[in-house]
Amino acid sequence: MTEHRAATRVLVLNSGSSSLKYQLLDMRDAGRLAVGLVERIGEQTSRLRHTCVATGGTRELNGPMADHDAALKAVAGELARDGLGLDSPELAAIGHRVVHGGMFFTEPTVVDDAVLTEIERLIPVAPLHNPANLTGLRTAMALRPDLPQVAVFDTAFHTTMPESAARYAIDTKIADRHRVRRYGFHGTSHAYVSRETARLLGKAPDEVNVIVLHLGNGASASAVRGGRCVDTSMGLTPLEGLVMGTRSGDLDPAVIFHLQRVGGMSTDEIDTLLNKRSGLFGLCGDNDMREIRRRIDEGDEAAQLAFDIYIHRLKKYIGAYYAVLGSVDAVAFTAGVGENAAPVREAALAGLEGLGLAVDPARNAVRGDGARIISPRDARVAVAVVPTDEELEIATQTFALVGKDD
Ligand code: ADP
Repeated sequence: MTEHRAATRVLVLNSGSSSLKYQLLDMRDAGRLAVGLVERIGEQTSRLRHTCVATGGTRELNGPMADHDAALKAVAGELARDGLGLDSPELAAIGHRVVHGGMFFTEPTVVDDAVLTEIERLIPVAPLHNPANLTGLRTAMALRPDLPQVAVFDTAFHTTMPESAARYAIDTKIADRHRVRRYGFHGTSHAYVSRETARLLGKAPDEVNVIVLHLGNGASASAVRGGRCVDTSMGLTPLEGLVMGTRSGDLDPAVIFHLQRVGGMSTDEIDTLLNKRSGLFGLCGDNDMREIRRRIDEGDEAAQLAFDIYIHRLKKYIGAYYAVLGSVDAVAFTAGVGENAAPVREAALAGLEGLGLAVDPARNAVRGDGARIISPRDARVAVAVVPTDEELEIATQTFALVGKDD
């Protein structure tokens, strides 16, 4: 009798324009089997860093990888060396992060030609991300055409936003013709963190209202009522909302006309300015919160002002989402800055005691990997640090769609 093994593994792929991040998970215990990253795809100096979790061994492969096809084949080769090859019957599916699903994709979706076409149709609203995600999808489909490939969309969690939050106040016909509306991003993280926050409070997701603050290099806030997103700070693109590492977040749209008419800048130049040379970086020349804190400790005024502007915007969104939700059970900080920068958490909630929001200094100072409460014991609203795990969420959603526990 041959041994019959259930297909319980999911490979998660996150394809950027010149990078490919991956994790192989076993959904029986949500454990990692392998993690890795290919960088500088298309250049002479491509590099693959692969870690097999069981052995703890990390290998590096250096040398040109012309495209995503070459990169994924190299990844498949490394996985095979660890006995985790993509031809294994234990692999149930490949889950792909896809940034923009528009209004069409409200849930994770098994990818076929029609789905590829629809993702392609969304390129005009996600020119930086969707082409790379499509390349990853096509490459993986060519390598394992028989295997379910699932697209998990960054926008999907936000499709529950009411029209009052999702629409811009512009001519409806023009907005509809060009699909101009607020989609929101980081949805996989907001979904995961809002659920984990409910779990931390010992409640079901539909019993709690949570403000999630995803503060990474990109940053976004969301208001989640009973497990459903009712507002989020990113809009048509990931440029709207909070001050980020290199993105401006909110500004008067007339700044753009002004820079064109008076500053003589082209549309592309302004696009680059607002996406790549603004935010913390534009304000003080650094986009890493660690470096900014170090400079503040040395008395650097530009770094202090950048920090203050970042916090001011964050505080405005906390207040706005408090009002949107009416009552709040928890505020959850997540991602690189949210999980690690205690001074950001403390400053963002300073002075909000009237709203029942406070940070306990000793609890806030504790460093740790797990989800934890940092508000005082008797606080009306829980303040939490909840590490995000987008790969696990993608794998979970993918497996829920295709996994058969046989
Ligand atoms: P993204 O996924 O958007 O690239 P991350 O969620 O990994 O970003 O967050 C990266 C950012 O987190 C860094 O740019 C840095 O500002 C911040 N960060 C990481 N570690 C720390 C730390 N120990 N203290 C303060 N900030 C940190």
